[in-house]
Amino acid sequence: MTGDKISTIKGVGDKRARLFHRLGVDTVDALFHFYPRNYIDYSKIKAIKDTEIGEIACVKATVITSPAENRIRKGLTLYKFKAEDNGMRLNVTIFNNKYQANKIKCGETYLFYGKIGGSLIWREMSSPKILTPDGAKIRPIYRQTDSLNTYAIEKTVKSALSNARFDEYLPKEILDKHKLCGYDYAIRNIHFPDNFAALNKARRRLVFDELFGLQLGMRMIKQSSKLANSYNIETDYTAEFEQLLPFSLTNAQKNAISDCVNDMNHGIMMNRLIQGDVGSGKTAVAAAVCYTAIKNGLQATMMAPTEILAEQHFASFVKMFSKTGMQIALLTGSTTAKKRAEILSRLKEGDIDLIVGTHAIIQNDVEFNRLGLVITDEQHRFGVNQRAMLSAKALNPHVMVMSATPIPRTLALMIYGDLDISILDELPPGRQPIETFVINSKIRERAFGYIKKHLDEGRQGYIVCPLVSDENDDDNSNKIAAENYKDELSENQFKGYSVGLLHGKMKSSEKEDVMRKFASGQIQLLVSTTVIEVGVDVPNSVIMMIENADLFGLSQLHQLRGRVGRGEHKSTCILVSDAETDIAKTRLNVIKSTNDGFVISEEDLKLRGPGDFFGNRQHGLPALKITNLFADIDILHETQNCAQSILDNDPTLSDPKNAKIKEIADKLKQKMAQVEMN
Ligand code: ADP
Ligand code: MG
Repeated sequence: MTGDKISTIKGVGDKRARLFHRLGVDTVDALFHFYPRNYIDYSKIKAIKDTEIGEIACVKATVITSPAENRIRKGLTLYKFKAEDNGMRLNVTIFNNKYQANKIKCGETYLFYGKIGGSLIWREMSSPKILTPDGAKIRPIYRQTDSLNTYAIEKTVKSALSNARFDEYLPKEILDKHKLCGYDYAIRNIHFPDNFAALNKARRRLVFDELFGLQLGMRMIKQSSKLANSYNIETDYTAEFEQLLPFSLTNAQKNAISDCVNDMNHGIMMNRLIQGDVGSGKTAVAAAVCYTAIKNGLQATMMAPTEILAEQHFASFVKMFSKTGMQIALLTGSTTAKKRAEILSRLKEGDIDLIVGTHAIIQNDVEFNRLGLVITDEQHRFGVNQRAMLSAKALNPHVMVMSATPIPRTLALMIYGDLDISILDELPPGRQPIETFVINSKIRERAFGYIKKHLDEGRQGYIVCPLVSDENDDDNSNKIAAENYKDELSENQFKGYSVGLLHGKMKSSEKEDVMRKFASGQIQLLVSTTVIEVGVDVPNSVIMMIENADLFGLSQLHQLRGRVGRGEHKSTCILVSDAETDIAKTRLNVIKSTNDGFVISEEDLKLRGPGDFFGNRQHGLPALKITNLFADIDILHETQNCAQSILDNDPTLSDPKNAKIKEIADKLKQKMAQVEMN
């Protein structure tokens, strides 16, 4: 029954089904997993005399006067009545809700939930929630849409639950060991908890399930790649590579490189993530590993998410490898047909050692001779399909993923559970920290003057905006839109300067064109949205101003800021914000006070909660429905251990007693393949 359409539930017609669809709920099963976002506790009833002015409370009182209608003006009608509990008075006012007022009967007892007002000797409530006494429970609050409010959803869930039964699918040992309640109990109590202890038990179980499935799925992927044969790298050429560089490698770089080389000398496929803060020198790590692979007779490829980044990497590789005679090529969507044909044939013959590019590299007709190493950026994590396409090109090549987004260590394991991880926790020596200021918009003009001074000195800068265009939306009234702002600035404050515009709605050829002009210095000031967030390396740009800075995530601000401070010049970042709230101020202060991406991501997670943390990022993870990664970190560790011990005993989950668990893992693997391909 679980896959049944939502319209099979009594009371759900086509119209309602469409509303549920908007909430992402199409099946009965999805409804059961559409967990409340909050709860209201009508179960703790306070005597009126024990309530305090200003608190939110639930009281039980008997109505002693019928609601009196009081029309104040057009559009405002009040209904007032009195109620009493043990001699203490409660005056209730209902606004404009005739329907509700008509249902109140003198002499009857009700629950009133709301904010307490009044005085020492009497109390009052304005538009409280009013329930009959049998509603003295903890009630769910659901995310709602249009005319489908939380009460309607509650009713539908209740009706669906009444003829549902949920089979347990976790083995008893696991339930006992981790002190988990049964699955049936969990689903019922997450929607309609008997009390808060029951709710906590239910929640814990469902969080466990969510994380456990994820861990299993990822570990199985990791495990299968551990079994995959691959090329054996016999000799480590890192020391030789280092001679090619104008600098010495940092210890962190050396460690990461040796992790990779070690991975590759067992004849088994490498699957490693290199996590490093902005500017920690991931490119040199990638180059070192390519160098060793190539010297061992293999071909290597490096894929970047955009043409600009691919070109950038290509240029750095060409420079680093100029004395080696290694053959390096660039392949992107812009490569001409003639050039492409030439590259493809040389690649197939094994004449090209290293090919840098975009997704163009994994197209069907691209054939390698002995592809042994694939390096990708985080944005490019391979889906299962893409892996299959690569494997068709070679025996399982070694895989290295580079992540530009530092994330808290505790979470790296979870998000990248299918990969081994090396962390670059050290910046190359001599980096000047980026000086960061937070200003309000009143002194923006002064900041413009400061930016102009830098442009006059031959440097370049960015102004980042939260929106692409003015969308005439009330919501957006305070947000600055890149298109309009660029026009304004180039006609006024930055008249006579060359100002460019970059945003995600532009065609990719237009974007590439603007970025090229910026990289070559033709554009002095680039007004953009967050599209410049990833990887862009223009060392001559030394100043960045971020408008409505409070609207961005901390890690995002850190990434954005990482676009400056990449060269010899001292760099500055100006965060413009008029936000008054403490939380906004605290957040901006974090950015101001540290340049350490790992510290920032911890704070980001703490301050925003994981929903937002993962909100607009593709971590290759299915969305988490119930887990709060920050609060539930202990459960995460439990599931990690649990998944590991099950797989240690039964690596392929073929023991019949693990049949159900295998189903969960397979489902998750499928989901992850979908997410990764997006
Ligand atoms: P990211 O990790 O953000 O990709 P990059 O690889 O672009 O960083 O490196 C940033 C800059 O630091 C580059 O200009 C690179 O040449 C330089 N760099 C990398 N490693 C070192 C090092 N060990 N010593 C000095 N400079 C380095
Ligand atoms: Mg980089």
